[in-house]
Amino acid sequence: MILPPANCPACQCNDQVQKVPAIHRNSYSTRMETQVTTSTSVTYDAQGNPNYTSLPQVNTVPVTHQTKLGALLAPPRLKTVPLPTGEKIILWLCPLLAIALYFSQTLFHPSFLDNLLPADSSVTRALLVILSLCGLSVALPVLLGILTHKVFFRQANERRRELRQLELVRWQSLKRQWEQFCYCHRCDCVFSASTGATAAPAQMQQLYR
Ligand SMILES: [Zn+2]
Repeated sequence: MILPPANCPACQCNDQVQKVPAIHRNSYSTRMETQVTTSTSVTYDAQGNPNYTSLPQVNTVPVTHQTKLGALLAPPRLKTVPLPTGEKIILWLCPLLAIALYFSQTLFHPSFLDNLLPADSSVTRALLVILSLCGLSVALPVLLGILTHKVFFRQANERRRELRQLELVRWQSLKRQWEQFCYCHRCDCVFSASTGATAAPAQMQQLYR
């Protein structure tokens, strides 16, 4: 038990007091456990009817547990500010566009390119084949992605950066408060060493100001 920083406001003693970050840090334990899974194999008889055979398999795997108290006393989480929905959709479509472009080119090759090619020199042709196959299918979606982020959703992303900055400041303030929280094992209460406010472990959120 680390040095208790303050007396518990409920019992006025510090012999059962521990800092919340220490409790949380030591609340994990990993042990080997056996897990039973079932594997099913299928065989077919002469008539083509399937026969299913189930075999239980025992594996020993490391499993990490956390005490209930440790989970309740978890530090504040940094909330992520999501990308604008429209941008997310377009960014998801970019790889699909790359695949679609690649296949459309391979399908239309080489007749499609012949029309574009003014002089049928072999070097130009080879270059164009390589450039069009690799370049176009990658460059266009990348360009679309950059345009989406920097141009189409520029304002939304500037707002997002501001929100992320605000969230970071908020989280840092909560984290500093959390580091001052203590827990009394006798009274089963969390209290703030700086303000003296107490709460049940499940209601630790009330201690944040
Ligand atoms: Zn106490």
